[in-house]
Formats: sequence, structure tokens, C-alpha cells
Amino acid sequence: MKILSFDYKKQLHFLSGRQKADLSRHFSKPGVTAMPHQLAVRLGINLPEALAIIAILEAHGLSKNKLLIYHACEPEVPAGAISYGEGFPNLPWKCPHCGETVDSYDELDFDVMAIAQDRIEFI
Ligand SMILES: [Zn+2]
Repeated sequence: MKILSFDYKKQLHFLSGRQKADLSRHFSKPGVTAMPHQLAVRLGINLPEALAIIAILEAHGLSKNKLLIYHACEPEVPAGAISYGEGFPNLPWKCPHCGETVDSYDELDFDVMAIAQDRIEFI
């Protein structure tokens, strides 16, 4: 298995050695996902720092990031996903869970999910 590694020292200077080892364990195989709040809780970092990790992974081609779309009918289950960086879904947007047609982003919630393209080693 290919191991991708790069020097995080400049961009992720806020991570300790223990946190990097923990991230390496989390991303120990391709296809592993991570969301900002999960990383924040797991590593004891704040949400902007967790978002920075996810953005840096995609910037280096290590992850494909998705914008998850949530509708109020099922707040815990994403109702859709589009590539992160393509903006927001087109309106009107039809919820696949409840069939409702949504005309305003106020009725939707969004989150980001990173999907690792390979094993990632944080050094
Ligand atoms: Zn819905």
C-alpha cells in the first residue's frame, strides 16, 4: 500500500506529535472519512483547526471533500452531497427523504466530509 506523507510542520503547526500519531491511526486506510466535529472531539482541537486539516488534505490531493446537505426532516442523516468547492446545491432543491421542495438555504444545513484517497501518514 502506498503511504502518502508530507511535512505538516508549517501548515499544521498546532498539532502535537501525539495528535499526528492519532490522525495517522485514523487515516490508516483508503476511504476513511472525517468530519470537522469528529476531528475536533477526537484530537481536542477547535473547529477552525479541524476544518484547516480537512482543507489541507484536499489541497494536497489526499482527500476528496464533500459538502453534505441536511434537511430538517432528518437532521442526522445527510440528504445529499456535492463536491466541496462547487458552491451550494441549486435551488429549488428536492429533499430525497421527505420529497419537500426547498426554496431557501435557510431550510438546509451543511457540513464537510473528507474522504481519504489513500492511507495518510502524518509526520
Ligand atoms: Zn426532507
